[in-house]
Parts: sequence; C-alpha cells; structure tokens
Amino acid sequence: MSFNDKVVIVTGGSSGIGAAIAIKFSSLGAKITIVGRNEQKLHAVAKKCENPLILIADVTKENDMKKIVNDTVKHFGKLDILVNNAGIARNTSILNENAMADYDQVMATNIRSCVYLTHLSAPHIIKTKGNIINISSIAALKVLSKQAFTYNASKAALDHFTRSVASELASYGVRVNVVSPGPVRTDFIENLGLDKAQQEAAFDHMRKMTALDRVSDPEEIADLVLFLASDKAKGITGATFVSDNGSMVIAD
Ligand code: NDP
Repeated sequence: MSFNDKVVIVTGGSSGIGAAIAIKFSSLGAKITIVGRNEQKLHAVAKKCENPLILIADVTKENDMKKIVNDTVKHFGKLDILVNNAGIARNTSILNENAMADYDQVMATNIRSCVYLTHLSAPHIIKTKGNIINISSIAALKVLSKQAFTYNASKAALDHFTRSVASELASYGVRVNVVSPGPVRTDFIENLGLDKAQQEAAFDHMRKMTALDRVSDPEEIADLVLFLASDKAKGITGATFVSDNGSMVIAD
C-alpha cells in the first residue's frame, strides 16, 4: 500500500489510535496534518512522522475546525483523506446533575466535530476523489457499561451520519466509512480520571469481555483504517468495520 502524495488530516493525532494512524500514513508516503490540544504530545508524535503539519486545535471550536481544513489545504495544496478520530467519554448517569453538560461536551467532541469537519472538507475531498474514515466504537452497537449514555449516543449518531453522508457523496466518487474498535490500550481510560490501578482493572475487565481474551494495540486499528483509506477498498462505502477481539460474539 502506498499513500505517496496523499494529504491526510488525523484529528486526535496526539495520542493512542490517532497517533498510530498518523505515523502509519506518514511511513507510507502521506503528507500528514496532526491535530490535538496537547502540544507536547503532538510534538512527540510529529518526531515519528515525515514533515507533518502540527495544528494545536480544539475540535469543539468552529474557528479551530476552519483552521484545520484551511491550513492543511494552504500548506499541502489539497486534501485527500479525513480521519475523524478525536473522541472522549464521560461516566455520567442520566440522573446526574451534570448529565446535560456532559452530554453537550461529548456530543460536541464525538459527533458535531465530525459533521462540521466533513462539511468543511467535502468540497476538497470531492476534487481529489478521496475518502473519510470515522472512528466510532462498538459502544454504538451494544450497551457495554452503565452510565455511558453520552458516549453510546454520540457513537451511534456517528455511525448513521456516516451511512447518510456515504450515500450522498457516492455520486461524487467519495467514500465514507466507519471503524469501530473494541477495547484498545490507549490513554482513553486514563482520561476518564482513573488512577493506574483502576486503569489496569478496567483493561482486565474489558479483556474478559472479549471472545479472544485480549485488548488491541492502536496499530491494529490503524492497519484497518489504512486499508479502508486505500484503493484496495475502492468498492467499500457506508460500511462499519468492527475490530473488537470478538466482544460482539462472546457467549456465556
Ligand atoms: P486517547 O485518549 O489516547 O486519544 C484521544 C485523542 O482525541 C487525543 O489525541 C486527544 O488530543 C483528542 N481529543 C479529544 N478531545 C479533543 C478536542 N476537543 N480537540 C482536539 N482533539 C481532541 O484515546 P483513543 O486513541 O483510544 O481514542 C481515539 C478514538 O477511538 C476515540 O474516538 C474513541 O472514542 C475511539 N475508541 C477508543 C477505544 C479504546 O478502547 N481506546 C474503543 C473504541 C473507540 P488532545 O488531548 O491533544 O486534545
């Protein structure tokens, strides 16, 4: 697979799955824009990429999203591939006082940003007949834990948004697909505010909920994203590809 001269935006490229995606695209010849809020982490990932454009940006802010697309096109001259990967979760009960504030924050990050970045990117991606990959979760397909309604709803919305836009953009030769990971070892759990022991307990719990008795590395998810972004997947659009170590097929 080669992505020579393809221009790729990866949101949430500062960490975990997004970092693995950015590094892999770059190693296969792509020109990469990596996006996140944490400058230090972005620079650490940038060192593993070939001349990336680093954009410190918050995907919940409209001006930042305009900057992501405009600066990429200005810097590299075009846009081929958008990977909407940035995402957060919140442990929130529907009974919590904070329920609506958490809902708004999770929806702004996990779905509104994907919608707006797709809106801004689509005219450029139509010109290059490129494609869009949205990173969802198996939480869109099955309720896996309690107090996760914000996250579950945001990812379910992302799945159906993908199918809807795939239908519309197909006539322009643009593909749009979803990758839905199961448990992956990243900072995602730490970002929920758990300490080290709680994080290990959470990964242990998630591992036991898989048929293959394992948690994925970010690189496995990146491999799937690159396949879908490549010409090998030229017949695939509006599809959801699950990589979850068999979480969806585990039987009692
Ligand atoms: P990480 O927490 O390691 O990475 C999340 C990334 O999102 C970071 O780079 C972070 O960048 C970025 N991000 C979050 N909020 C914003 C924001 N407002 N603006 C810009 N960037 C933002 O988690 P993962 O790598 O695991 O998560 C990546 C995606 O994979 C998410 O969409 C997640 O829902 C999904 N996923 C993860 C699973 C897992 O088990 N890890 C399972 C299923 C799905 P920064 O902090 O620099 O802003």
